[in-house]
Amino acid sequence: MSGAPLDAVVVGASLAGSAAALALARSGARVALVDRASFPRAKTCGELLSPDGVAALARLGLGEEVRAAGAATIRRFALVRPDGRRVRGRLPAPALSLSRERLDLLVLHGARRAGAAAWLGEPATSVEGDLGSGFRVRTPGRTLEARVVLGAWGRYSPLDGRLGRPFFGAKATLFGFKKFLAGEAGRRFDDQVVLHVFAGGYLGLSLVEEGRVSMGALATPGVAQEAHHDFDRLLGRLRRESPALAADLDGLEPEPGPALVSEPVHLGSRGASWGELLLAGDAAGVVDPWTGSGMSLALRAGEAAGELLAEHAEGRVATASLVREWDRRWRKVTGSVYFFSRMFRPVFLGGAATSLVGPLTAPLAGLAARLTRGPA
Ligand SMILES: Cc1cc2nc3c(=O)[nH]c(=O)nc-3n(C[C@H](O)[C@H](O)[C@H](O)COP(=O)(O)OP(=O)(O)OC[C@H]3O[C@@H](n4cnc5c(N)ncnc54)[C@H](O)[C@@H]3O)c2cc1C
Repeated sequence: MSGAPLDAVVVGASLAGSAAALALARSGARVALVDRASFPRAKTCGELLSPDGVAALARLGLGEEVRAAGAATIRRFALVRPDGRRVRGRLPAPALSLSRERLDLLVLHGARRAGAAAWLGEPATSVEGDLGSGFRVRTPGRTLEARVVLGAWGRYSPLDGRLGRPFFGAKATLFGFKKFLAGEAGRRFDDQVVLHVFAGGYLGLSLVEEGRVSMGALATPGVAQEAHHDFDRLLGRLRRESPALAADLDGLEPEPGPALVSEPVHLGSRGASWGELLLAGDAAGVVDPWTGSGMSLALRAGEAAGELLAEHAEGRVATASLVREWDRRWRKVTGSVYFFSRMFRPVFLGGAATSLVGPLTAPLAGLAARLTRGPA
């Protein structure tokens, strides 16, 4: 890369960031990704990619690759409460399930193939500047200059603290956990995602590539504290309290190593920009994991941001209207997802609401699935 400022630096090379860099680079613009992580890397996530996310991957030219990587197709869901009551339903369209190790790497490779540079294993420690004079993104190893910065650094980054975003350091609303399981018994999850709701959280089970089962859970701070933030301890309790969960886990062995524990999860919309920084994916807002739409929102918002920044690089969108225009397009991508994910939250976060899992839940969950997704 020459010394001239880049068209854009994208901070965060996960789904939102790499989708943006891919869409931008394939228009011929000069873009660099920066991520503190090296890829592949594991991620606290249930790994279910909803139909609109599958469609976004296809538009990004990655549809075949994601299937070749071994993604499982998921058409059905089941909601299970601790007393074993189970309701089943069909997803509006097929979803895919692939480990984040594979999916994120695949999108990142797509961005690099399109021409994006990537600086990995380097945290962005500061972002300074404005749209008028340009931005500087510093890592311990370099300073990158760019006309625009897109923040795709996920739900909770030290950068949020440095930029003074209000949720940073606030008491966490929820905690996420994740572990992989292995064993022939995983075939019982063929074609379906299973969500066990319990008082103060839920736990999802979904088949990914090579017969592995991804087990992701979300818990309120009370539940997480009671288990000393130890997922094995929490799982032990849930298994004892729910014979249905014990039966679903029967014959499955956890893969070696500790469970992943997520950064604090603060749910809700935060907005498409912070000052003159554009934001996409979880950095712009965190949707309830039960919707299975966080990844698709990240891909779709990343794609839309990349397209807008390409228009900006070509002079078709004025710098003065960039933030406003991104806000408009981001709202179009996200639609009513935050509203509906909040509305249905009590059903899925359990407590007294676990009793709502009954005959009406399948249509309700089906409706919720439609309302919290974009066009497939
Ligand atoms: C328990 C749980 C289960 C979930 N299950 C599902 C599910 O089944 N389906 C679904 O669709 N969604 C699910 N989600 C949500 C999903 O994981 C997120 O919505 C998605 O990962 C957002 O993608 P992103 O690209 O915006 O951010 P992320 O994937 O979080 O990526 C952010 C990137 O930014 C990097 N970064 C952070 N700070 C810096 C820095 N200072 N410098 C450089 N890089 C930085 C990180 O290393 C990371 O790679 C779940 C979430 C939780 C908590």
